[in-house]
Amino acid sequence: GSTVGILGGGQLGRMLANAGSAMGYRFVTLEPTPDSPMGQVSEQIVAAYDDREAARRLAERSDVITYEFENVNADVAAMLMAESYVPQGSELLYTTQHRLREKRAIEAAGVKVAPYAEIRSEDELREAVRKFGTPCVLKTATGGYDGKGQWVIKGESEIAEAYAELSKARTQLVLEQFIDFAMEISVIAARSTTGEIKAFPPAENIHKENILHLSIVPARTQESVLREAERLAVRIAEGLGVVGLIAVEMFVTRDGELFVNELAPRPHNSGHYTMEACRTSQFEQHIRAICGLPLGDTSLMSPVVMVNVLGQHVEPVLARAAAPDEAAERLGVAPKLHLYGKKDAVFKRKMGHVNVLAPTVEAALDWIDETKIWKV
Ligand code: ATP
Ligand code: MG
Ligand code: MG
Repeated sequence: GSTVGILGGGQLGRMLANAGSAMGYRFVTLEPTPDSPMGQVSEQIVAAYDDREAARRLAERSDVITYEFENVNADVAAMLMAESYVPQGSELLYTTQHRLREKRAIEAAGVKVAPYAEIRSEDELREAVRKFGTPCVLKTATGGYDGKGQWVIKGESEIAEAYAELSKARTQLVLEQFIDFAMEISVIAARSTTGEIKAFPPAENIHKENILHLSIVPARTQESVLREAERLAVRIAEGLGVVGLIAVEMFVTRDGELFVNELAPRPHNSGHYTMEACRTSQFEQHIRAICGLPLGDTSLMSPVVMVNVLGQHVEPVLARAAAPDEAAERLGVAPKLHLYGKKDAVFKRKMGHVNVLAPTVEAALDWIDETKIWKV
């Protein structure tokens, strides 16, 4: 059997290893946190991501290397490419690590993003805010996640403070026009080393305080919009020469127009629903794509709602799972709990998720509501 090396040992690595182990692959992760989510289910090299000696050991042990987070050091990626097989290459990482490069690449693939401007000074910001109007969103070009490194500018009086605050990150800044979206969706597409491409059904995403809360599938919008979203994701996968998974976050306007928000070149939280609801999970698909196997069928087998389990939800979720569930029986839903093996259930920390399989997404949403677990 071949060994797959993964940079990063968080929950995405763990779920890749679980899916790939069932297919006969062995796994090793390079991850500084001892006993990491992935380290619990595979071999782990405990070292910093940019430890070149450790990266060399990862390369020696691996037949193919991938990553589960996108802020991989460019030098390390280059070294791994010289010493092992990195089918995703470094170009895709380079592009998606930086919002401006990413937006330009999306546009070059013929897909729309929200109007944006590169911001190099407070004066440029003032000018761009006048052009786009308020609200608008100032973002750091690199390093942001879960809404960190962003400022929604609601009026011109906030410009100086927003600029001063985000400039601290010492990276370029981007201003985006605010899209008054009716819905946020994401499409995960896979492109294999052979050039085959397949997209998963779009997920409707609902965030709470900038953290993904729910992914609802099928998304509750027109079929034509969903098919167009899949086409755009496929166009991006092709245009950017993706290998492996690409997650495409999009805004849907009231008129059904689509704007891409951002990309992630890896398994995505909004794709966890595929684990039980699709014939192939996003994790199996990624392994297939990078190992040159034919891609799996992405068909949806059941309506599903994925709900994230944050630190404050762990105890009530476990209590719920341990007792007979009258509501689940009555609603005809099957909640599937996944926990990532993280030790401290810190408030707002992603600890796991529940895929609620159901006859309709409404039934799944009713179950989530009735449990009262996700009120906090
Ligand atoms: P993630 O955790 O998904 O990586 P992130 O920190 O990279 O998040 P974005 O996805 O860029 O941030 O933005 C977070 C959320 O803020 C979006 O899902 C959306 O709800 C809102 N948002 C971001 N940009 C815009 C915009 N231009 N117009 C309207 N809403 C926006
Ligand atoms: Mg992001
Ligand atoms: Mg996002």
